[in-house]
Amino acid sequence: MDNPQLLDNHGRELTYLRLAVTDRCNLRCTYCMPAEGINYMPERELLSWEEMFRLTRILHEMGIKKVRITGGEPFVRNGLLDFLTNLAGLKDLEICLTTNGVFIGEYIDALKKLGVRHINLSLDSLDRDRFQQITRRDDFAKVYENLLRLIDAGFQIKINAVVMQGKNEDDIIALTEFAREHPVSVRFIEEMPFNGSGLVEEKLFWDHARILERIRSQFPDLKARPFLFGETANTYDIPGFKGNVGIIAAFTRTFCGSCNRIRLTAKGQVKTCLYDDGVFDLKPYLRSGVSDEEVKAQFLTLFKSRPLDGFEAENKRKGVITESMTTIGG
Ligand code: SAM
Ligand code: SF4
Repeated sequence: MDNPQLLDNHGRELTYLRLAVTDRCNLRCTYCMPAEGINYMPERELLSWEEMFRLTRILHEMGIKKVRITGGEPFVRNGLLDFLTNLAGLKDLEICLTTNGVFIGEYIDALKKLGVRHINLSLDSLDRDRFQQITRRDDFAKVYENLLRLIDAGFQIKINAVVMQGKNEDDIIALTEFAREHPVSVRFIEEMPFNGSGLVEEKLFWDHARILERIRSQFPDLKARPFLFGETANTYDIPGFKGNVGIIAAFTRTFCGSCNRIRLTAKGQVKTCLYDDGVFDLKPYLRSGVSDEEVKAQFLTLFKSRPLDGFEAENKRKGVITESMTTIGG
């Protein structure tokens, strides 16, 4: 077997790797983890940078065209820049990052030099107090400054905002307005049950339809773009805007049919779906001395029994969702 192409049992091609490089984070977003944080793994229990590079290289050989570095907060793990430098050596691999934006400022030049172009920055509110209530940290000024610097430096920025009843619904319009003056894509995300508590609201108040209704109430001329394969957002243009807005039906799961993603958690679990509870533990497997060919065969096998969608994956779980998104990477 040289470089077999990764296709799942439903004919979907896997071209996008989401790699959580740490489970640690400097913020404590309420929708992601409890105030006290989670039981963080000691570093030796995470995949090493070398192991993550090897996996990315192998998957790149199998057809992965894009890797997103996420976490936890990627910038809290020492060695990130060296890792990105190694990834930049893999030909035609698009490197993207998801970050909370607190620490990225000092890396802007280096990221540009490495050819990183796409950054997703999480920002749920443009109001300092609301930001603090949501993230449990007073870092709004730093994040906002870094956001403006990234835009000025020419990065393609997507702002991720989770919409929560009673917390930031007023930011739907405020963040949409931000896209009027700035060439960014603001994406509103339905809240998912990965908050580390095991407690889940029965009903999602701000689903994609309600978010759209709110935006349309202020911007009736908005126009939907065609939905692209592999995308999770429905994107809308608004006349006169430099940027655009998107809505990600992450809880309603309307986009599973075109899912092209492989997820690796910081602990080394393979997820064939965001809603599964991890289908394979790569760490002991890699540490047993397997060859690249064996790793490729293992991935092919795993993706031959992939659930059709996030509902099937959730039904097959061994228990209710208790994990925090900081271990998964979003
Ligand atoms: N720390 C980085 C950040 O916040 O951008 C990267 C990791 S974070 C887990 C990745 C994405 O997951 C963020 O955009 C965050 O808003 C989103 N996320 C976390 N918990 C979520 C939840 N319960 N529902 C929906 N999105 C969530
Ligand atoms: Fe940290 Fe990102 Fe989770 Fe917020 S969403 S607590 S920034 S990992």
